[in-house]
Amino acid sequence: MAQSLPILIAGGGIGGLAAACVLARDGYPVTVLEQASAFGEIGAGIQLGPNIFRMFDYLGLTEAVNQVAYFPPGLGMNDVRTGEKVVRVPLGDVARAAYGFPYGVIYRADLHQVFLDACAAQPLVTLRTHSKVESFEQDAAGVRVRLADAQVLEGAAFIGADGMWSRVREAVVGDGKPRVSGHIAYRAVLKREEVPAHLWNDDVLLWGGEKTHLVHYPLRRGELFNLVAVFHSNKYDEGWNTFGDTAELHERFASAAPQVRELLGKIETWKMWVLCDREPVRNWSDRRVTLLGDAAHPMLQYLAQGAGQAIEDAVVLREALRHTRGDVPAAFQAYQQARYLRTGRVQLTARFYGDIYHASGVQRELRNQMFQSGTESAGFAGLKWMYDGIDPSRLFA
Ligand SMILES: Cc1cc2nc3c(=O)[nH]c(=O)nc-3n(C[C@H](O)[C@H](O)[C@H](O)COP(=O)(O)OP(=O)(O)OC[C@H]3O[C@@H](n4cnc5c(N)ncnc54)[C@H](O)[C@@H]3O)c2cc1C
Repeated sequence: MAQSLPILIAGGGIGGLAAACVLARDGYPVTVLEQASAFGEIGAGIQLGPNIFRMFDYLGLTEAVNQVAYFPPGLGMNDVRTGEKVVRVPLGDVARAAYGFPYGVIYRADLHQVFLDACAAQPLVTLRTHSKVESFEQDAAGVRVRLADAQVLEGAAFIGADGMWSRVREAVVGDGKPRVSGHIAYRAVLKREEVPAHLWNDDVLLWGGEKTHLVHYPLRRGELFNLVAVFHSNKYDEGWNTFGDTAELHERFASAAPQVRELLGKIETWKMWVLCDREPVRNWSDRRVTLLGDAAHPMLQYLAQGAGQAIEDAVVLREALRHTRGDVPAAFQAYQQARYLRTGRVQLTARFYGDIYHASGVQRELRNQMFQSGTESAGFAGLKWMYDGIDPSRLFA
């Protein structure tokens, strides 16, 4: 579909780029407005459930992703204090058989690059850096977006993919600041040779315990080792991507099993995130303006789905525009209608999984007993609705 005015997207993260490339493929000119001086992502790992590989398949990006992803043989949980195994779910062929798609992990920067390459292959995509969105206004004919340097851009539609602290959301939803969870994440990546053989593990392995957990897994075909340590702390109000206090981290994990403490001791510098989310809402569109990814439904990372849900959003948005034959306000309504219950369920279930990981006392014992008494795949059974994913061709049929 040819249009004179572009679709404007605030934010060139994974969600914004996914939306840009998928909409440009349908003939829409798209301009991505990124506030940073370069398009890029932090060096940390993310997990990608089978529902996201379903989207890569739909987007024709499977091969590009497979070249840089790592496919762990299993997903497990150990008790962080005793070191005992709680549960291990085999992945690989088991995940493929159950969901039709694999479970993988990827370096964030590599996934971002896959989408950057996909955008570069689309002449209709314009990528702009140094373009911080300040405000916008709209009428029946289109939107006008004002940047921090006072430039005003005109568009046919405007998508706020500007993350957890979305400026666009302020105007569309107006529900204040995100909810600070009191949970802090420290992230680090080691090279393979920095991890002693007895600490290396091919699985995605989570060590869960009272108000703390550690997750680790290999990245980039096993060349790197990703670690995320999470603990409860009321010390911080908000924050994003600052350096962590190593002494505090060791204090929080002081009663952890020796192998956990040894692994944490391998890292000198941690990057820190204050983890936030929001209550789910059902309305994040206003005529020609909508939200996508963390701007629409920010979630805690306990189900490892935030980026994945942003990619699903991009696909659904495209299908909605197809369904309404380019009627933007109708498409944005149809898109949020198709998304809010699923993304809201992920937001709320992620909080619950945080409680499971961080259980103590009787709750911890029950957790261990329930997981240990189940079948190998029981730990996954409750998430089938999520990993089954969405079928784009049937969304608006
Ligand atoms: C510790 C941790 C672990 C995680 N693990 C996983 C995982 O395993 N799997 C998974 O799927 N997800 C995971 N996530 C979630 C995932 O990181 C996010 O959900 C995802 O990055 C959201 O993408 P986005 O494009 O919506 O937003 P973002 O990645 O936040 O991108 C927003 C972009 O908008 C730009 N921007 C902001 N404001 C403006 C403005 N005013 N004007 C212009 N540009 C602007 C920013 O610079 C940024 O580039 C994790 C998150 C955390 C914190």
